[in-house]
Amino acid sequence: MAVLAFLDHDAGHAEPGHPERPARLGAVRAAIEGDERLTGLARVEGGAAAREALERVHTAALLDRVEALAEGGGGVLDADTYVTPASWDVARRACGGLLAVVDAVLAGGAAGGFAVGRPPGHHAAPDQAMGFCLVNHVAVAARHAQAAHGAERVLVVDLDAHHGNGTQDAFYDDPSVLVVSSHQAGLYPSTGALDEAGGGAGAGATVNLPLPARTGDALVDLYRAVLPPLAARFRPDLVVVSAGFDAHRLDPLGGLSLSVTGLVDLVGVVQEAADAQGAGLALSLEGGYNTGVLAACVAGTLRRLLDPTAPVDDPFGPSRCPAPDLTTLAQHVRDLHGL
Ligand SMILES: [Zn+2]
Repeated sequence: MAVLAFLDHDAGHAEPGHPERPARLGAVRAAIEGDERLTGLARVEGGAAAREALERVHTAALLDRVEALAEGGGGVLDADTYVTPASWDVARRACGGLLAVVDAVLAGGAAGGFAVGRPPGHHAAPDQAMGFCLVNHVAVAARHAQAAHGAERVLVVDLDAHHGNGTQDAFYDDPSVLVVSSHQAGLYPSTGALDEAGGGAGAGATVNLPLPARTGDALVDLYRAVLPPLAARFRPDLVVVSAGFDAHRLDPLGGLSLSVTGLVDLVGVVQEAADAQGAGLALSLEGGYNTGVLAACVAGTLRRLLDPTAPVDDPFGPSRCPAPDLTTLAQHVRDLHGL
């Protein structure tokens, strides 16, 4: 069974012209509701994430600041990151949707699920909102899995085109959460170098895959090379995915040039690795700013969750870039992480 936490907060209005806007979810909603192959999805409601759950990752000072800014009529936290009067509620509901998916997976018998909400979360650090992100959904979900369900090890895989710096910061010293992020090197926020590999007790539990621009669908082969052995060694109880789709070739913010097929196949590699370890799979929407592409990617991902053999509908076509040679990067990752 796959579940969907589909969050009813298109109402959260955006700054004019901002790429992270409610129309993203409207396009996804239309694609899902228009696809009869997705009628087998179970739907769960999340509600707003509790303060206690958020404080497992974030400082009280950050949460107070975002809440006060929203209650005061809104404002900006940095050049990219806005808060509207609805944002505190919207962000907590996006997070709560993912927690409901985790509950369905770890206690409700679902093999996997996808929380489709906004704004995204993976740039939000424990003490700082940034990069469109107010609270870090996947980080809160990993801690929720541990605190509420007794999960010992959680694997976070971030396939957004941007480095999941906030998630990395939350778990950098923690060996119980393995964070794997693939991202375009040099893109915002310019972190996520190969040698950022965890610290202290968490040394080795951060894996960064910084990629050249126009990597294209060759990324799928890199995932096949490194993710299964990492997962087999770590033996996660749960796999949480920062499912951003701005690595598509038509995305206005990213330059990785993948196709819809490639992006859905990335999820497929993660799904196979989770299945091989007997771990549940919980996905959380991150970026993806071409709304048509985003809708195709989310619908394709849901079909893949329901049926791993399902073909991908790819109305935007192949990635059309020469496959770069990623063997050196793959070897560096193997050497650095002892695979
Ligand atoms: Zn992104």
